[in-house]
Amino acid sequence: MDNTMISVVIPVYNEDANISHLMERLRPVMEGMNKRYEIILVDDGSSDRSLALMKGFTTHPEVRVVELTKNYGQHAAIFSGFSIAMGDIIVTMDADLQNPPEEIPNLVRVMEEGGYDVVGTIRKERKDSIFRTLPSRIVNSFARKMTGIRMTDWGCMLRAYRRNIVKHMSDCREQSTFIPALAVYFAKRVTEIEVKHEQRYAGTSHYSLRKLINLQFDLVSSFSDFPLKLIMYAGLGMAFLGISLGAIIGISRLVYGAAWAAEGVFTLFAALFAFIGFQFFALGVMGEYIGRIYKEVRRRPEYVIDRVHSSDSEGDAR
Ligand code: UDP
Ligand code: MG
Repeated sequence: MDNTMISVVIPVYNEDANISHLMERLRPVMEGMNKRYEIILVDDGSSDRSLALMKGFTTHPEVRVVELTKNYGQHAAIFSGFSIAMGDIIVTMDADLQNPPEEIPNLVRVMEEGGYDVVGTIRKERKDSIFRTLPSRIVNSFARKMTGIRMTDWGCMLRAYRRNIVKHMSDCREQSTFIPALAVYFAKRVTEIEVKHEQRYAGTSHYSLRKLINLQFDLVSSFSDFPLKLIMYAGLGMAFLGISLGAIIGISRLVYGAAWAAEGVFTLFAALFAFIGFQFFALGVMGEYIGRIYKEVRRRPEYVIDRVHSSDSEGDAR
């Protein structure tokens, strides 16, 4: 047995139909790796039997359960797991068995042999419906362009991070973070490997189109100011067009006389409407950023841990 310790952090939100099966597959894999390990299950405010089921596994000393006070979302839940993780290498994965636990040894091996800080993953033959893959594909290519962060598959949470990267990420006490992108931002040596992707074992995805769009905006606004620049350039272009249009109308009036200009009123209306539309758009985008600044300065904790359950402390370890 070598000295490296592996932490596996798993966010859980209403996954009672998956937990037993997940642990049944995950524990033998971890045992077989011949390394010290721990499994941190984060209960992200589940309203089903998930928490009770997970607490049942804390009879194993390797398993700890973080109980959050309410549902904070997948990324915040992972961060709360990071806050108590003790491993040298920290692996994140989903609870629904879409990420096969059997890939973990390979992930760790690639990280150790290549001396990488982050090992990302690319899902081979994604097993999701078109309604889930199409938005993701758009999200992936958009995210790459906007943030300049090179990552092929943004959505797969089966990833391995070195301890120092996790520490840097946890030190960023910012809201609306997207863990894989933040990790790549801090890492020097990053690689990606292909992993299998499976059907969700039970239940349905917690991500609606609305949540995906939110996540996308988080990504873009927290890693780039491109939307603000876009507005600036669009504004510049609009102003130029407006002045040109004014000049054309002015000249035409001189050439064709006042009768023509009366008809030109409609052109002016068109231009006016374009400007109004543009102003609203600009205000909307700026509002979004201001809203985020407001959220940031409030410094509201991104998650609150209720208790940490483990084999040697029943409930009081905070
Ligand atoms: N999850 C969570 N909090 C949430 C939503 C999801 O902890 O508010 C967990 C969920 O239990 C699962 C993982 O995040 O372990 C991924 O969620 P899901 O399978 O719904 O997303 P998808 O696979 O469709 O991206
Ligand atoms: Mg899933």
